[in-house]
Amino acid sequence: MALIFYNTLSRKKDLFFPIDKGKVRMYTCGPTVYDYAHIGNLRAYIFADILKRVLLYSGLKVKHIMNLTDIDDKTIRDSQKEGKTLEEFTEFYSKEFFKDIKSVNMLEPTKFTKATDYIDDMVLIIEKLLEKGLAYKSEDGSIYFDIKKFKDYGKLSRLVLENQRENASGRIASDEYDKENVQDFALWKAWNKKVDGNIFWETGLGKGRPGWHIECSAMSMKTLGEQIDIHTGGVDNIFPHHENEIAQSEGVTGKQFVNYWMHNEWILVNQKKMAKSANNFYTLKNIMDRGINPIAYRFWLLMANYRTRANFVWEALEGAETALKRLYGLYAALGKEIGKISAEYKLKFKEYLEDDLDTPRALTVLWDVLKDENLSTADKKATVLDFEKVLGLGFADLKEEEIPEEIQKLAKEREQTRENKDFKKSDELREKINSLGYEVKDTNEGQKISKI
Ligand code: AMP
Ligand code: ZN
Repeated sequence: MALIFYNTLSRKKDLFFPIDKGKVRMYTCGPTVYDYAHIGNLRAYIFADILKRVLLYSGLKVKHIMNLTDIDDKTIRDSQKEGKTLEEFTEFYSKEFFKDIKSVNMLEPTKFTKATDYIDDMVLIIEKLLEKGLAYKSEDGSIYFDIKKFKDYGKLSRLVLENQRENASGRIASDEYDKENVQDFALWKAWNKKVDGNIFWETGLGKGRPGWHIECSAMSMKTLGEQIDIHTGGVDNIFPHHENEIAQSEGVTGKQFVNYWMHNEWILVNQKKMAKSANNFYTLKNIMDRGINPIAYRFWLLMANYRTRANFVWEALEGAETALKRLYGLYAALGKEIGKISAEYKLKFKEYLEDDLDTPRALTVLWDVLKDENLSTADKKATVLDFEKVLGLGFADLKEEEIPEEIQKLAKEREQTRENKDFKKSDELREKINSLGYEVKDTNEGQKISKI
């Protein structure tokens, strides 16, 4: 089975071929570290994590880069509000982000790149864009990308520039804007004491700081090369962020920047996009404060395809946690022995995931394995642990359940009574075991005891 991914660039599912055989270069637009991540943001990262795990599961090597945007309009604004240095302020939220991704079992990227470590690379790209006539300096010394000079501008978001001619004649300084405001965008922002305070870099371009979009072009090209396989983010990154990344990167190299653009859909609340600006967001802390395991959020996400919108309600998350506990219970009852991975189930599991990360169907295979009465407990355990490599639901970390001696004694006694065909006595013992909070099941391999 081959890997197939929905590619925003082609608007269809494409067969996946990495540029270098057996190796994938992947870039994920990471967080702007000006606040705690909300669980909508976390969908973007968990989606990237599943994608990466599926690539690894398919036997590919993956170099995965995720950036930390520690310089932009928002980090400057809020660090000043709090009277902290930019570094102190963004360090705090970066660390909180690292904790969050750990609690939802994300694999660490090969490298986190901090935008402020790549200013020189950004300056180099901007200089080349100026040389090529794709960028220009405005009156205040800021530098803008001239979108009309780049013929492919709009190819990712399918903008028809002709239709936007009126708006497209101006320029926009802020990092974030929508399609109604398609204009020349800022590559370099000249120092403005009122806005920037003492945050600036002295460079060949003058005194100032980079725009947001150039950061990802520079970090991606520096760490992964001029052409990469996969670039991920949420759908709201398609325009303007990723459109602008293409313009900057392809403008300077003349080569296709990214082969597969992959985007996750939104998490909604009351059918509206979860967003800081709408003040309708929740964080992992909110989830944990309710006594819910953060992995339940990961599990809830996996129940839907990453390309469908998902409306967040607490009842659904609680339902996911109940189902997850049930899976843990079934797994815990499998005992210690690890057998062979079921080839038949593995094939199906892999096939679903390789079809544009169909996690809902992959989860049905997990349930089927655990419920299959013809599969030995040892083989079930091996198969679940194999699936765990992609799902990351915490099976591997579950502690072996200790069955108290008293219960083990009662179970042994029950085994004897069954051998003697004294079913009345055997039922009494089962009830006794139940009353002590354990349940006993008769399987092909004998009794299995687990906590109720
Ligand atoms: P930001 O920090 O705003 O750049 O967002 C970080 C990531 O979260 C980006 O990939 C966004 O596209 C994504 N994102 C933001 N809001 C949501 C949401 N409500 N649902 C899913 N992804 C989101
Ligand atoms: Zn980015």
